[in-house]
Amino acid sequence: MSGASPLYNTFARIPLTFERGEGVWLITDKGERYLDFAAGVAVNSLGHAHPHLVAALKDQADKLWHVSNLYQVAGQEKLAERLTAATFADKVFFSNSGAEALETAIKTARRYHYAKGHPEKIDIITFEGAFHGRTLATIAAGGQAKYMEGFGPKAPGFVQIPAGDLDLLKETISDTTAALMIEPIQGEGGVRTVDKAFLHAMRALCEEHGLLLIFDEVQTGVGRTGTLFAYEQTGVAPDIMAIAKGIGGGFPMAACLATEEAASGMVPGVHGTTFGGNPLAMAVGNAVLDVVLEDGFLEHVKEVGLVFKQGLAELKDRYPGVIGEIRGEGLMLGIKANLPAGELAAAMREEKLLSVPAGDNVIRLLPPLTVTVEEAREGLARLGRAAEKLSAA
Ligand SMILES: *Cc1c(COP(=O)(O)O)cnc(C)c1O
Repeated sequence: MSGASPLYNTFARIPLTFERGEGVWLITDKGERYLDFAAGVAVNSLGHAHPHLVAALKDQADKLWHVSNLYQVAGQEKLAERLTAATFADKVFFSNSGAEALETAIKTARRYHYAKGHPEKIDIITFEGAFHGRTLATIAAGGQAKYMEGFGPKAPGFVQIPAGDLDLLKETISDTTAALMIEPIQGEGGVRTVDKAFLHAMRALCEEHGLLLIFDEVQTGVGRTGTLFAYEQTGVAPDIMAIAKGIGGGFPMAACLATEEAASGMVPGVHGTTFGGNPLAMAVGNAVLDVVLEDGFLEHVKEVGLVFKQGLAELKDRYPGVIGEIRGEGLMLGIKANLPAGELAAAMREEKLLSVPAGDNVIRLLPPLTVTVEEAREGLARLGRAAEKLSAA
């Protein structure tokens, strides 16, 4: 009933209220237990109420919640050192959300060319099906009409082409191009993996034309695909990378990572944030990395990912009218539905299994990275029951 709630009507909410969580389980206010293979859209990377994260947050909460970025924040240096040690990057800027990290990435790229004496280089080339957030710049970057409609003129400086069309990409690069920006695996777009050869070609074009390569790893990052970052599996490193979702394990935080060279235009005073790099967020981010960087953790993600892939392939064979192509890497999985994806998601919810819808009629499975093989099999059994009911209907 519109008007009944004082909240903006921007979300079509499912009438379920969760009161607490334990690992991969969410428990409603009525005491019903749901297997959470949505994980807040790849946010609860270590599941719910992970004891190490809870302890880190409580410990920091007793000491200090906030100081402004006018001062040094110990947790920031530590987390930035660990992120740069583990990646291509030399520099990190912390913020609060994925869209903000992408804004920083875009500003970093434009400012790089500005500082090199090329203020005209502002255009970012992005790819169809992309999702980069909901700010005015990031809806322009994502290029989806449904997210831009009614919000005034599209922010200038974003040009979009289909992914994989190398000739068109070459034609599109001009004297005003600053950067190419892409998700190595599209999340909202339907768990669509970008061809490695295309990423290599993008890297080569960036070298040839002096452009910056930006990867949006807001969804794919922090172990989700079986490596710390998805780009590691492609053989292509970006110059700038946005991360968010999984790094906070449920605490709002994000970061933009860059090479020293790419970040060279970001000098004192040109960018800022009130909450970014907040001590509570840094404590949790460091605690997430403690776990994800433990020996064997990423192997576990790959292993359970394979259990899922095998199980999903079997279900696809058994219920071809319901389950189509299986997509993704590690624990970022997509099921192309052969009936309206919403019907499949609803049938899964009936079996108390949570998933996330995506574009291209795809259902995403994004379980906590801590999901066990046994829990994976339980989820597959529930999905099987949902598919069985839909096939019989
Ligand atoms: C979720 C997401 C964003 C936006 O993150 P917010 O925290 O919602 O601003 C950007 N890019 C990708 C790939 C995402 O999955």
